[in-house]
Amino acid sequence: MLTQTIKTELTDIVGKERYLDKTAELACFSYDSFTEEAMPEAVIFPMTTREVSRVMEIASKYKIPVTGRGAGTSVCGAPIPVKHGIVLCFTKMNKIIEVNTPDRYIIVQPGVVNINVQKALIPLGFFYPPDPGSMTSSTIGGNIAQNAGGPRCLKYGVTMDYILGMEVVLASGKIVRFGSRNVKDVTGYKLASLFCGSEGTLGLVTEAILRVVPQPETQKTIMVIFDDLDNTAKAVSDIIGSGIIPAAMELMDNASMNAIEDAVGIGFPRDAEGALLIEIDGIKEACEKQTKQIIEKAKKNGAVSVQEAKSESEREKFWNARRSAYGAVARIAPDPISEDVTVPVSKVPEMIRRIIEITSRYGLKVSVVAHAGDGNMHPVIPIDRSNTDQRLKVEKAFAEIFKVAIALGGTLSGEHGIGLGKSKYLPLAMSKDSIEFMSVIKKAVDPDEILNPGKFV
Ligand SMILES: Cc1cc2nc3c(=O)[nH]c(=O)nc-3n(C[C@H](O)[C@H](O)[C@H](O)COP(=O)(O)OP(=O)(O)OC[C@H]3O[C@@H](n4cnc5c(N)ncnc54)[C@H](O)[C@@H]3O)c2cc1C
Repeated sequence: MLTQTIKTELTDIVGKERYLDKTAELACFSYDSFTEEAMPEAVIFPMTTREVSRVMEIASKYKIPVTGRGAGTSVCGAPIPVKHGIVLCFTKMNKIIEVNTPDRYIIVQPGVVNINVQKALIPLGFFYPPDPGSMTSSTIGGNIAQNAGGPRCLKYGVTMDYILGMEVVLASGKIVRFGSRNVKDVTGYKLASLFCGSEGTLGLVTEAILRVVPQPETQKTIMVIFDDLDNTAKAVSDIIGSGIIPAAMELMDNASMNAIEDAVGIGFPRDAEGALLIEIDGIKEACEKQTKQIIEKAKKNGAVSVQEAKSESEREKFWNARRSAYGAVARIAPDPISEDVTVPVSKVPEMIRRIIEITSRYGLKVSVVAHAGDGNMHPVIPIDRSNTDQRLKVEKAFAEIFKVAIALGGTLSGEHGIGLGKSKYLPLAMSKDSIEFMSVIKKAVDPDEILNPGKFV
């Protein structure tokens, strides 16, 4: 309970303008895209590390729960303040502190939106590879906390692979720095990595040093259509198995293609069962050779049409189609529930078949989009979350889908994280001892459990 005394102490730090506690204001910070909600008692917008630290000193003194928040684009309930207390929203800590391409890093505050990192780098011939579908709104702090991935991560890796160092405020208010500006740095534990995927349960990121890489000389983008979903998935296995690593390899099934077609109309055939959006980047000659090899493999696996983007605008058209998939499904029902499982690439065909079989058994519609080259798939079920029966069916269907993914040698999440939605399934993917080990770390750095309490650890 935030008493008047506590409120006064907090507003002394950030002022009244950056402290919200009216019900209507608080409601905006009570949810993400997951099916649950919980109200905070106050929302605070810090602007400096010192302010974050002072807020945490007070939270620690009075044992008030604190949940960090970026743009709130999480789909697993990670930023929902289930134990109420304070939401610390980082959107005003949105400065790019240093861009240093000769030394290949960029230093940012946590509230910088991913796309703004890209915008700062592109004119300099560099880029920051992690590219979640939410990159136009999600923040670097949220990306780190969820260890976000995206289409390009097939070739380039996920957020954790690009974190050189960070500044973190601990539950006690203590400010600590991990890592450095150096790509090679084995000085002690790689503690910055521990915070990737920690979902705000260990500390609050107040600054990050991100590794950046030069833009490739060229890129080629191909849209391949199949009339059979199995063949689509087999083509994925065949291409990846041959040693070619495209920059991205995105799969859309018939339901996604039709939803996209209804929303943005790019000319997908209505009866096609699968599409692959493939991008290859690198040296021109290598790209041309690999494009030829990919097209050969796609045709060998039954591709009915292959379209190569002839211009940047055509490339954008293909990517817009893929990126609009989630929004397109949202036109079918107001609350599309997007899940996230990963299986070994060779198991992609079977996983997709099983997803379709399980959801149809529950009478649910499903569309599957996948970062197929790394086996990471997103079954999206459009529902109306006010319909309890539908919600129950979705929960049961996803419980089965998670079990199948694990049985196929996969895992519970490739990029969206565990949050609220999947914490009960954690024992499927991790042993008791591993879960216990996470608890030991959590208790060591946050003994009163005030940082994002009620989540997976
Ligand atoms: C349309 C759409 C597409 C998406 N596509 C992808 C995708 O391709 N890949 C992918 O990985 N995800 C994707 N996501 C999920 C989501 O965008 C990511 O998880 C993203 O990283 C969340 O960032 P955010 O700024 O919105 O964080 P929030 O949702 O606000 O918070 C997420 C977590 O980060 C914690 N947090 C936030 N800031 C900090 C901080 N400074 N310090 C410590 N903890 C903090 C919060 O407590 C919470 O646990 C998608 C979501 C949507 C809606």
